[in-house]
Amino acid sequence: MTSRLPEAVTGQFQDIRQSQIPVDARAVLEIDLDALRANWAKLNATVGPNVECAGVVKAEAYGLGLEEIATALTHEGCETFFAATLHEARKVRRVQPGARIYVLDGLLPEAAAHYAGFDLRPVLSSMLEVDEWSAFCRDEGRRRPAAVQVDTGMNRLGIPIDELPAIGGSQAAFADFEVSLVMSHLACADTPANPMNARQKQAFDEARKRLPDAPASLANSGGTFLGPDFHYDLVRPGISLYGGRAFEGGPNPVQPVVRLNARILQVRDVAAGQSIGYGAAYTLTKPSRIATIACGYADGFLRALSGDDVRPGPLGHISGLPVQVVGRVSMDLLTLDVTNIPPDLAVRGAWVEIMGDQVTLDDLTDQAGTIGYELLTRLGSRVHRIYIEDGKPH
Ligand SMILES: *Cc1c(COP(=O)(O)O)cnc(C)c1O
Repeated sequence: MTSRLPEAVTGQFQDIRQSQIPVDARAVLEIDLDALRANWAKLNATVGPNVECAGVVKAEAYGLGLEEIATALTHEGCETFFAATLHEARKVRRVQPGARIYVLDGLLPEAAAHYAGFDLRPVLSSMLEVDEWSAFCRDEGRRRPAAVQVDTGMNRLGIPIDELPAIGGSQAAFADFEVSLVMSHLACADTPANPMNARQKQAFDEARKRLPDAPASLANSGGTFLGPDFHYDLVRPGISLYGGRAFEGGPNPVQPVVRLNARILQVRDVAAGQSIGYGAAYTLTKPSRIATIACGYADGFLRALSGDDVRPGPLGHISGLPVQVVGRVSMDLLTLDVTNIPPDLAVRGAWVEIMGDQVTLDDLTDQAGTIGYELLTRLGSRVHRIYIEDGKPH
């Protein structure tokens, strides 16, 4: 059974999409796989034919759904994926039997057989991991592929350069497996002018001299836009695939991929002087109509997006018309001032767009003082997801 709404209240949330929405859905995330594919194609074109464009699908593909995203990227031509965890990587393997799949967590102790069994490639980030993978491959009598990650300044994961074998000495340490990728990760790719980027590139070039000759990768989304010097053999974009901003300054070169809509549960008239929600943080200065919406911080609409007397909340849109978040965002609900829009649009059951083309992911996270990565990966499991491909839901 699906929810039927009068045309007048659906706004941009079109009929064809609505037909996919179960009657019990209260908040709906629309994921535009066409836009995702266009974003991957754009990055792939940016790096040119001699550089491979992979897809980073960690954390459920930034909250959007691992299997759906990996499959759509495969249809567009993506052949290499980076998951964070062994569990995620196995999910990708189930839907993409032919893909190259790396596990950014690296090799968990004594788990080598679990990678090998699914043809997964650990990103080896310490000499301990290198030794353990080597021993496993020796025992198996098979040189299995793995990436080797070096640390060029992030000080998080990766082999410190001074722990690498001396130049000429790498043959022995890496002899027992196939080094299918040598990689490192940029700390400041979101700030293109930061001198850290050039320093890390230089360190990466030094590190490569101490490692077997293998394809190399340094760039995430931001790094991909730093230019060909940063592309090496493979780029690893994540956030740009999903429509988020990869770097500060200038327009975002990719298309939005997500739209978040939630339903109005109730509309009421509230007198001047009354306050809205927890903490009585927002007080009405004039008689107003307030709509309560079925989306809260448990759904991923961050509490930092509350509106109080000092700082207004973000805008949502009903049939394309702006309405402001007023009062604190609570666990399951948020409140909007709908005084200025026609009463027949703001009614029980109507859908409100709270993130999309008008108020984008980046707009919201700028307001909340965070980044698109965080908001996407916090979208809750209660949010019903629908996928649009070839212009229609599937
Ligand atoms: C998350 C991640 C990426 C992708 O980063 P974006 O900024 O989302 O493009 C690439 N490489 C590594 C090692 C990562 O952890």
